[in-house]
Amino acid sequence: MKIDGFELMLASDGTFKLDGGAMFGIVPKPVWEKYFKSDEKNKITLATNVLTIRNRKNVALVDLGIGDKFDKKLEEIYEIKRTKNLVQDLREKGIEREDVTHVFITHGHLDHTGWATIYNHGDIEPTFPNARYYMQEDTLKEIKEPNQKTRPNYNYLNFKNLDSRLELLNGDEEVFPGVELVKSGGHTKGHQIVTLRVANKTFTYFGDLIPTSAHIKPAYVMAYDLYPMDTFSLKKEMLQKAFEEEWTLFFEHDPVAPVAELTDIESYSLKSVSL
Ligand SMILES: [Zn+2]
Repeated sequence: MKIDGFELMLASDGTFKLDGGAMFGIVPKPVWEKYFKSDEKNKITLATNVLTIRNRKNVALVDLGIGDKFDKKLEEIYEIKRTKNLVQDLREKGIEREDVTHVFITHGHLDHTGWATIYNHGDIEPTFPNARYYMQEDTLKEIKEPNQKTRPNYNYLNFKNLDSRLELLNGDEEVFPGVELVKSGGHTKGHQIVTLRVANKTFTYFGDLIPTSAHIKPAYVMAYDLYPMDTFSLKKEMLQKAFEEEWTLFFEHDPVAPVAELTDIESYSLKSVSL
């Protein structure tokens, strides 16, 4: 989509699988199964939708897929499937690694930060050599001080040799005109969402605050969330605004309808939008 000097696109790092029950928290399986068919291990297939925001000066990526720094065990757990990876998909869409100026990381989980770094002759280096990587300071703390509940959600190779590229934020920040990072908390303490305001339109990328369109209802909070009541309250508040102001919403893990608008705030009905 092109709008007032900006171009928005979705790129992909393929699909992976997670436990359907964990993805839907307190939502009963007969309800979530209307949206997601589960396999014999109760896993559901999720997308890795990376948003690209380009204008004359900037090439920004929002989150970075699941990457390739996996051992066999993790590959089996996540059942990653792709015909091309994020770097290859970006290239097909006209974005070389060197072109990227900004990387916005919603939070540190391994399915959002995979291509922060890349192997080069056995070493690990930043994938996007000319980019600054923006995350909340709380996210870095959560990465560096995990506990038994949070540790499995991180892959430390995604952050290796990245320190000098990081721009650490404490709260909301407009990074360049129209593009704002908004600290949300909820899913993790340092979780942030990304909004683009251009030509009287608002586009919002929710990260894991609303991972798929099936999570649109405020109470549909993942079991992974560390602060579920914060997720609940913030979703309610933001979706009210999204409805009133007709925002375009992006869902990072939605394999079918990653872009949508709210059509009813009582039932939280959505209509799919094509980019
Ligand atoms: Zn997450």
